[in-house]
Amino acid sequence: MDVRNCRRCGKIYLYDGSPICPQCRKEEEEDFKKVKEYLYDHPGATLPEVSNATGVSPEKILRFLKEERLEIVGESNIILECERCGKAIKTGRLCDECKKEVGTRFLSYLDDKKLQETKKKNEEFAKRKEAGYRYLSKDLKEDENK
Ligand SMILES: [Zn+2]
Ligand SMILES: [Zn+2]
Repeated sequence: MDVRNCRRCGKIYLYDGSPICPQCRKEEEEDFKKVKEYLYDHPGATLPEVSNATGVSPEKILRFLKEERLEIVGESNIILECERCGKAIKTGRLCDECKKEVGTRFLSYLDDKKLQETKKKNEEFAKRKEAGYRYLSKDLKEDENK
């Protein structure tokens, strides 16, 4: 039996893969729902407004946003910044462009690695082929000499 202390309230609970106890998880879920509903009804609400109206701390609201569980609807004053370029974004940690760029960079890195491997293999193959040809032509020459 794996028993841990809840990271949120400190109470002991039966560990089930989550760092917080089921009770806290329920409360978080309710906070999340409250914020989501408030934002849905008040699309232009500011962070302090949402926090005051829902009783959920601004830090937590921002966390919900960064976890991409919440997306700002319409023209909201809640502004998240892209962690890479600082552009205003509605959800998550990176703007779409940066997400794309980081994604392609990662992919091109993988491609690069693959390319290098293929290149190396091709070079080895070419070397072997070259050696084989040389051997072959030598043979041919010897044949010619005969
Ligand atoms: Zn707890
Ligand atoms: Zn960005």
